[in-house]
Amino acid sequence: MSNTEVMSMSFEPGAALADGTIPLCVPHLNGNEWRYVKECLDSNWVSSAGPFVSKFEESLASYVGAKYAVATVNGTAALHVALLVAGVEPGDEVILPALTFIAPANAVRYAGAWPVFIDVDRNHWQLDPEKVEQFLAQQCDWVDGELRNRSTNRRVKAILPVDILGHPVDLDAIITLARRFELAVVEDATESLGAKYKEKRVGQHSDLVCFSFNGNKIITTGGGGMVVTQDPVLAEKTRYLTTQAKDNPIEYIHGEIGFNYRLTNVQAAMGCAQMEQLDDFVETKRENARKYISALADLPGISTMSEADWANSAWWLFTVVVDPKHSGFSRPDLFGALSREKIQARPLWQPLHKSPAHAGSEAFRVEVADSIHEHALSLPSSVGLSGEEMARVVAAVHNLAKSVA
Ligand SMILES: *Cc1c(COP(=O)(O)O)cnc(C)c1O
Repeated sequence: MSNTEVMSMSFEPGAALADGTIPLCVPHLNGNEWRYVKECLDSNWVSSAGPFVSKFEESLASYVGAKYAVATVNGTAALHVALLVAGVEPGDEVILPALTFIAPANAVRYAGAWPVFIDVDRNHWQLDPEKVEQFLAQQCDWVDGELRNRSTNRRVKAILPVDILGHPVDLDAIITLARRFELAVVEDATESLGAKYKEKRVGQHSDLVCFSFNGNKIITTGGGGMVVTQDPVLAEKTRYLTTQAKDNPIEYIHGEIGFNYRLTNVQAAMGCAQMEQLDDFVETKRENARKYISALADLPGISTMSEADWANSAWWLFTVVVDPKHSGFSRPDLFGALSREKIQARPLWQPLHKSPAHAGSEAFRVEVADSIHEHALSLPSSVGLSGEEMARVVAAVHNLAKSVA
């Protein structure tokens, strides 16, 4: 057998690892990634200048329907700088959902501000506009033209919705509140890249929208991020802060403390190749979610996030909720059964009002986030997941249900 035959045999379709484990979510690098990265190496453009950086920015901006984009070193850096650009200052408060990955809350603290954690809604698991309104209308006062949280006396400056697991937040409701209470909206759309809100792609609605391209996201550059906006002034300020706030690039004069948050050309080259496949990735994720939903439909006590009639979710990680009263088994039972079958699964993030890292922050009416967190488990969701692999996952859930029936 020739070397090339052996090589091609080791690249069977599917997402399974060498030992047969089905991973939770791994990158899909079957496009022009090699070619574009090689172009960087061949041309010596490996660092943060080079043609792929602006190509990647233009490609993502036009895909999501935003006018401007600034690439960053990762998604957390994108969030940090977007908050600064939105005018968040030390001692301010920023409204966040209680159920999200920790990065956006950490970014608020990097800016010297404080998160206020508000509950998510029961159907779509996103920041609940009704509770946000209750907090703003009932817990805050206008003092000398500034909105202040009565219990902390801090200025409330921004709302940071996070589109968790691929489903957009109710953007019209959040943005209407933001206008009424004079708040900026910095959206974390990492997990909803390619999703639609009322027929329009996520990324064009909020003042500033952030993305991450870490290894397990919808597209990946290894590590990377982006800030997009419709506003040329916000875009310019973002680029300024991510590139060391350089006023004069010849004389090295810097107007303020900036950051080195740039993405490299090599990473952007991967990003360009991934963008070419993004539509296929999102279509596959939506198709896989539909297949999971129908394959699990007859199991009592197993449900998933419902897709709003105003949303097309990107279904980043397909996540089930186990109701032990009806399923006869708990979320940890399901996790154990899947592990025994070499299937990776993952609980959602600890709700942030319970996180030791954010112990000093306020939470408002968090009731739903805890119960979703207690019962939710994400199932393998790689774009490359084969039909056979999905059948293994589905069979493992059915077998557990049978064993307790
Ligand atoms: C992964 C993720 C981030 C963090 O992005 P990094 O690129 O890892 O810094 C931020 N927000 C959300 C919602 C994420 O899923």
